[in-house]
Amino acid sequence: MRLITFTESGTTRIGILDGESVVDLSAASPDLPREMVAFLEAGDSAMDAARSALEAGGPRLALADIHLESPILRPPKILAVGLNYADHVAEAGMDTPKYPMIFNKQSTSAHPPNEPFHLPRASPALDYEGELAVVIGKRCRHVPQERAYEVVAGYTICNDVSVRDWQIRVPTFTMGKSWDTHCPLGPAIVSADEVPDPHSLDLRTWVNGELRQSSNTKHLIFKVPALIEHLSTAFTLEPGDVIPTGTPSGVGAVMKPPKFLQAGDVVKIAISGIGELENGVIEEPENTVRIG
Ligand code: ZN
Repeated sequence: MRLITFTESGTTRIGILDGESVVDLSAASPDLPREMVAFLEAGDSAMDAARSALEAGGPRLALADIHLESPILRPPKILAVGLNYADHVAEAGMDTPKYPMIFNKQSTSAHPPNEPFHLPRASPALDYEGELAVVIGKRCRHVPQERAYEVVAGYTICNDVSVRDWQIRVPTFTMGKSWDTHCPLGPAIVSADEVPDPHSLDLRTWVNGELRQSSNTKHLIFKVPALIEHLSTAFTLEPGDVIPTGTPSGVGAVMKPPKFLQAGDVVKIAISGIGELENGVIEEPENTVRIG
């Protein structure tokens, strides 16, 4: 089941992507929450109701007639993992981490599939990172690895867009990883039952049709259960939290010379069984200035 958030006729709500059509859950199952975090919080019964709506084969909207939003408009937390593929650790000239290297992307960086993200006015060093992202489905704490999959609602794609000069000029990554529009997600959350093994997925990234990243999630250093155990040792994970699991080699910053993104570029990330996430790049618009 491919869960989406979309806007149509002026309202934003959740649905299920089914090929080129969409099941509008607010019409098919009116008692369900219309917002993804609330839907995930409603747990297995909501998932079952959504699955019934899909199988009932009721009226559909055409994918072409809706606007896709970030599947989670504002994730409670976005907990990203750095240096989690050996080949990326090598290209970055770093040592293999002993512990997962966690950093936050701010909730406000979540961005829809298909909409362009911003080349900042304040930096030319814009880069992409194709990543598998885990979506948490249950409020949880102290989850042992062997029970980790119980708290996973599903998986999506994340472009962990990075502003490299801001990322590395101080010891923490936060300022370089959290610019508005710099966390494209989607297009859908693929429910966990359709992803029996998240560590066997081909991951590829293209820029303007040129293949830049080609790997497989089997190369993750810290696997999904280890990440969930590690994170939940410290704090509560909540429905709608997103964990981008790290990127393989092939980012623009380490090319010689570096190939940073330019306005007009198009970044496409494909993960087998999950989908394709494609976003263009535009100059940061003048109207991002907002005071009061
Ligand atoms: Zn990343």
